[in-house]
Amino acid sequence: MKDLFTSSSLVLIISHQGPDGDSIGSSVALARYLKKLSVKSHIIFPDPFPSYYGWLLEEEDFTVANSDSEKLPSLFNMADLICCLDFNHLYRCGDVLHNHVKQYNIDTLVIDHHTYPEHFSTYEFMDVSASSTCELIYRLIQENNDIDLVEQSISEAIYTGLVTDTGSFKFSSTTAYTHQVASQLMMTNFDHTKIQQRISDENSISRLHLLGYALQKIVVNKELSLAYLLLTAEELKRFNFKKGDTEGFVNYALSIKGVEVAVFLREDESIFKFSFRSKGKIKVNDFAKTYYNGGGHENAAGGSSKLMNPEKISIELIENFKKYCQG
Ligand code: 5GP
Ligand code: MN
Repeated sequence: MKDLFTSSSLVLIISHQGPDGDSIGSSVALARYLKKLSVKSHIIFPDPFPSYYGWLLEEEDFTVANSDSEKLPSLFNMADLICCLDFNHLYRCGDVLHNHVKQYNIDTLVIDHHTYPEHFSTYEFMDVSASSTCELIYRLIQENNDIDLVEQSISEAIYTGLVTDTGSFKFSSTTAYTHQVASQLMMTNFDHTKIQQRISDENSISRLHLLGYALQKIVVNKELSLAYLLLTAEELKRFNFKKGDTEGFVNYALSIKGVEVAVFLREDESIFKFSFRSKGKIKVNDFAKTYYNGGGHENAAGGSSKLMNPEKISIELIENFKKYCQG
């Protein structure tokens, strides 16, 4: 794997749409590791990331594809390796990047931990049992015998993904190895409380008002042990919605006693975006894949629907879930 990097003159690092702590953290960690190997890289996000991750990217070279698409041809012309991080289906990086990856015939490496990969790349570094893509970046560096290159700034980026994708080491994806990685990262003496604070304690008042409003809208279907919560574009606008503001809302629905599956639906331009979470045996990645063109992990998945009517989409959700449970 190391030769693949060191023989490249420019590595493009691509994350999925709606960048989150794991995709941003792993992109930044890989870019910083490559810099240590004297390999040039450039991060490309399909769309903007939540502002509360801005601190992670202060030193990085990055482009947001949907607002800076004129920069893409020169980047793709110079690149000889594309690393796709934290996704395993090409559509997940959005139309603009999807088309560029297809058009330019560049070797691709997928580093990912989601289920049901599409296997679209030249190389793969995948493990569904990994807690996060950040954990895989650490493992990759370890396999390259380069742990001594992991200093504070790389640790901070990797730790961010570990924390966000495991719900602070709470989800079942957390393993002994996840804790070992966290422990080894902490030996580099970065300020881990600062990371938690930046992710969780920098709320705007409008986000908290939106949360208060959203909590009132949770619908519980006791019979199905299902809770869902839907926010329309108009409602989001009313609370001055900013990217990332609804992160974690679905977990409140899941926290209700007796609820095994929670769904959050958010109107986003011409689709409704779904977040699924489960705490029992129900595999929400299969449900998302079957009915909502989505996927993810067994207990945390996403998808979308083009049905734009809130009442109809809610009724359809219940119907689909009933069918799924019966089937
Ligand atoms: P979230 O609900 O936090 O957006 O996503 C939960 C998990 O599902 C994440 O691992 C995310 O990468 C994945 N995911 C979200 N949306 C989609 C989607 O549309 N398709 C697929 N395949 N995975 C998704
Ligand atoms: Mn992830």
